[in-house]
Amino acid sequence: MNIYGQTLPQLKEYMVQLGEKPSKAVFLFKGLYQQKIQNFMDTPILKEALKIQLAQDFQMQLPILVEQTAGEDTAKFLFKLEDGSLIEAVLMKQKYGNSLCISSQVGCNMACAFCQSGRFKRVRNLTAAEMVAQVLAVEKLVEEKVNNVVLMGIGEPLDNYDEVTAFIDIVSHQQGLAIGMRHITLSTCGIVPRIYDYMEREAPGPLAISLHAPNNELRNQLMPINRRYPVEELMTAVKAYIAKTNKKVMLEYVMLDGINDKPEHAHQLAALIESSDCHVNLIPYNATQNLGFAPSSMENIKIFYDILRDKGIFVNLRREFGASVQAACGQLKANYLEKTNM
Ligand code: SAH
Repeated sequence: MNIYGQTLPQLKEYMVQLGEKPSKAVFLFKGLYQQKIQNFMDTPILKEALKIQLAQDFQMQLPILVEQTAGEDTAKFLFKLEDGSLIEAVLMKQKYGNSLCISSQVGCNMACAFCQSGRFKRVRNLTAAEMVAQVLAVEKLVEEKVNNVVLMGIGEPLDNYDEVTAFIDIVSHQQGLAIGMRHITLSTCGIVPRIYDYMEREAPGPLAISLHAPNNELRNQLMPINRRYPVEELMTAVKAYIAKTNKKVMLEYVMLDGINDKPEHAHQLAALIESSDCHVNLIPYNATQNLGFAPSSMENIKIFYDILRDKGIFVNLRREFGASVQAACGQLKANYLEKTNM
């Protein structure tokens, strides 16, 4: 079993079963995530026999780097997992530290019309260990700390709820990587019941919603999940999240030429937000091959932006992060598979 999937309470339970004190788990956890030991024999303080037992019961498994592309302040990593599955992670160097965007599934079942990842139907969920290992592998490769984690890579995190929340428990723990909850953003296409579950957790972090359309007719076409959980239900959940956590929610809106970028859409979006504490992030579409969508013109984006801003909505235009490293969801994997004829 991969040790990186064990939460601290699980490791304590393991120690107790061996007849050891639970505090031994803390030494191990600190060894793994603070000293970054590469071998169980290097675990601080523990006695020899216990280290040997650990080495028998667990492995320290990191993914294999297949390809790395670097942009100005982004780097994208294509990793191969034990079963040969390919996953992507993107590191973005920002003023406030290093943000790592990680994948939560191999492929994705949500089938959003404009998204490359939808082409690869979900093969399987990632385990918590495989998500933690993405953070550790990138820290090791770039020899820098990851300060923020964004669950915005391939996959729908709320479609893999148990492993994703175990991952969050591991990387946020003060005695481990200590990436605080405020620094862990979860992005979802809107699996409404899981949004309610997530807000019940202790101090949940920032939430981003991939909205992309302000009415059901359009959203049904772009995002099949909307047929299960329509816009009104989603916005009710978003407002409940804000009320419960006292945090703003980020609405992601990818600008698709002639599809969702008209002034009427901006007005509909403003009406959905009303006076709630939602911010809007306008994302230039990163054109992917063969999906039939094009990015909106800068002119139309500006008109859309101004309508929202004039209504007093906080709106941000995301700069085209990662176009040079093919950072849009699923693009590196798609290109790699094409190149290698897989
Ligand atoms: N499933 C989650 C997280 C993964 S997608 C979610 O839906 O939020 C990360 C974000 O990138 C989503 O907002 C997605 O809609 C968007 N996206 C996908 N393909 C894109 C592209 N080609 N250009 C710009 N954004 C894209």
